[in-house]
Amino acid sequence: MTFVSIFFAYSEKNIQTKGPVNHSNYNIDNNTLVRVKDNNSKSVVVIPKAMREKTLIACHDDVGHMDAKKTLHNLQLRYWWPNMRKDCKAYVRSCHKCQIVNRRTANAYGLLQQLPIPSTPWEIVSADHIICLPETRNGNTNMLAQIDHATRYVIATPSASLAAHTVTDALYHNIILRYGPPNMYLSDGGTAFTARHTQRFLQKYGITQSTTPPYSPQANSIVERANGIIVSSLKKMIDKNPNKWDELLPNALLAINTTKQNSTKKSNPLFTSWI
Ligand SMILES: [Zn+2]
Repeated sequence: MTFVSIFFAYSEKNIQTKGPVNHSNYNIDNNTLVRVKDNNSKSVVVIPKAMREKTLIACHDDVGHMDAKKTLHNLQLRYWWPNMRKDCKAYVRSCHKCQIVNRRTANAYGLLQQLPIPSTPWEIVSADHIICLPETRNGNTNMLAQIDHATRYVIATPSASLAAHTVTDALYHNIILRYGPPNMYLSDGGTAFTARHTQRFLQKYGITQSTTPPYSPQANSIVERANGIIVSSLKKMIDKNPNKWDELLPNALLAINTTKQNSTKKSNPLFTSWI
């Protein structure tokens, strides 16, 4: 069942709302109850209680198990129900797969340190897994996104597992062999990043490792924003062939890496990457 097809067949007779309702905020659009946002610019589909879990699955599980903030952002783009924010937070916090890979899924961070400002491209790299994607013909179900802080250039590598060597292989072949070892490698506390194998590898190349708290959420937001863009770009491309996402990944990355970046103000990170 695709991400979009689940929701739009629901007519107003399926919708139940509790408590006082300001009807001026609601419309029937194409037999679907929609809620008009305050600025009147966009309407979002009102999701009945029976469909909320499926909606959460579509906006969290099916798009790579993003954290609560990103999942809520996905939801808010299209849907609304009372207490959606609270339900989203509770759902992500209790997600079994997120817990298995020890991902930081909530937005509760401790004391923050200032993120160092890179002086050259590929000096500071953030990495993150996007997990539980539809299995491809090549057996891939995850991807590792690695992003350069200076240029926001993104490299994403599909993998069949979350084993530590998938991280070190991707780092070695896609970054070290091309640009040299970065000074700093940031990630969450996922087991692939904290494994002895990964720690030894980083030590061997003189790379300082940081596994989240000190440098988040700023560091996290860089890689999570990249993840969100990768997933949304792929979603547009894969359409009826979700099992081919790994084949279409290079196309999505080219589009991402040649699009103007708000943060760097450069129109082409490919260019900034080599100057
Ligand atoms: Zn999850």
